[in-house]
Amino acid sequence: MTEMFKNLIAGEWASAGNASRNINPSNTNDVVGEYAQGSVEQMNDAVAAAKAAFPAWSRSGPQERYEILKKASDEILARKEELGRLLSREEGKTLAEGIGEAGRAGQIFAFFAGECLRLSGEAIPSVRPGVGVEITREPVGIIGMITPWNFPIAIPAWKIAPALAYGNCVVIKPADLVPGSAWALVDIIQRAGLPKGVLNLVMGRGSIVGQALLQHKDVHAISFTGSVSTGRKVAEACIASSPMKKVQLEMGGKNPLVVLDDADLKIAVEAAVTGAYFSTGQRCTASSRLIVQAGIHDRFVEACIERLKGVVVDDALKSGTHIGPVVDQSQLDQDLKYIQIAKDEGGKLAWGGEVLKRETPGFYLQPALFTETTNAMRISREEVFGPVANVIRAKDYEEALALANDTEFGLSAGICTTSLKHATHFKRNSEAGMVMVNLATAGVDYHVPFGGRKGSSYGPREQGAYAKEMYTTVKTAYTLA
Ligand code: NAD
Repeated sequence: MTEMFKNLIAGEWASAGNASRNINPSNTNDVVGEYAQGSVEQMNDAVAAAKAAFPAWSRSGPQERYEILKKASDEILARKEELGRLLSREEGKTLAEGIGEAGRAGQIFAFFAGECLRLSGEAIPSVRPGVGVEITREPVGIIGMITPWNFPIAIPAWKIAPALAYGNCVVIKPADLVPGSAWALVDIIQRAGLPKGVLNLVMGRGSIVGQALLQHKDVHAISFTGSVSTGRKVAEACIASSPMKKVQLEMGGKNPLVVLDDADLKIAVEAAVTGAYFSTGQRCTASSRLIVQAGIHDRFVEACIERLKGVVVDDALKSGTHIGPVVDQSQLDQDLKYIQIAKDEGGKLAWGGEVLKRETPGFYLQPALFTETTNAMRISREEVFGPVANVIRAKDYEEALALANDTEFGLSAGICTTSLKHATHFKRNSEAGMVMVNLATAGVDYHVPFGGRKGSSYGPREQGAYAKEMYTTVKTAYTLA
């Protein structure tokens, strides 16, 4: 019998009237589980529970928070193989990637356990004699979180861990397509000793429970990761609500990887292929625009195709698979739509792009590489969010930099070069929030800030010590001594 997973409200598992089936994209006959589809009433109950828990939790000591986050980290790390298997089964990234992501969630909890003990303030003299000034950080309050399907445990972890570390209460709504990993994470954190109501989980439709969270007057801040179009709606709702909500948006990307004539070809090809196609290209940081200088262009394309010939697309859980399936039929349709658009616009499909049949029914797509594309084409301007990349030819470094920056997005950008001069110039002049030299645009550390510029991000950075900008609010207190 299929297992039924409930919402967590005020420390109790609560069933909902409806449920959705979580389907394995590597084998659509395999149902991962039935997950509650919450209602507006459940969302209101979850916010009320968070509100009731906030006074005590916001005053809890750093030692209590440290111990809970550390215990959660220990369990996540101890169970990372099992959690990684669940993640790969529901989302379709390979088992190695799934286990890596689960381990990442454990490391994030360990980092923020430490941050509980590192919160500090300042005491400085006033410009008025006899007056002292203290600057302290306080929790923001009740944080609503809305997360996407492509990093189903890491993104909930990198939002929940800092929120709890700094004394906030949380209501999280994970992606309805892939809710299992977030459910497992919340279960672990709750059992680590969290008081009831501090963390609440309401699964379900964005347009129903997501909207209810955005519109709730008792929610103080929203941390959102997802598409640009939803992000815009989230920001509008946060500003329209009374009082206005603090808001953080992490959205799409169209990340350039520049390859200069003097690049190490092996490094450049590895950065391009892993960055563009691994995790099925379903990463906001995917290297989807390959901007290649004319002198190395043909050798680079040829070497990429050779490398792609050895890439195995198959069941995410099978050993030997390099790239799993696309997450569902509608994402596969979107990928195929963009492949057709690129062809219609005059791009040359140099490799892949066809739907593949495997032992089990799933959404398998051969990675697609386009050449002869320009930066004006839709394939260069719009996020595909699949294993599709295109090569744009540039005559020199200056043109390559201009092309890299000619985008509405600004999440991550990379350059492959052996020139210190060009690497240094690119780091300073790229309009992205994260810049990589001789590395893929995807693949980041968990203890440093993550985020972009322009249309990719809005509000404070996520991760590392910078997360406190989102999850704390500053108070300035004056005392006449
Ligand atoms: P999405 O915008 O469709 O959904 C994201 C979340 O918003 C889901 O939980 C969804 O249920 C919810 N939602 C949808 N409509 C809503 C509404 N009207 N009100 C409230 N909530 C609503 O995105 P997705 O398809 O799940 O994820 C893919 C996107 O996420 C891509 O654009 C990708 O680039 C982006 N992403 C960005 C980052 C980053 O850190 N920059 C990381 C991962 C993914």
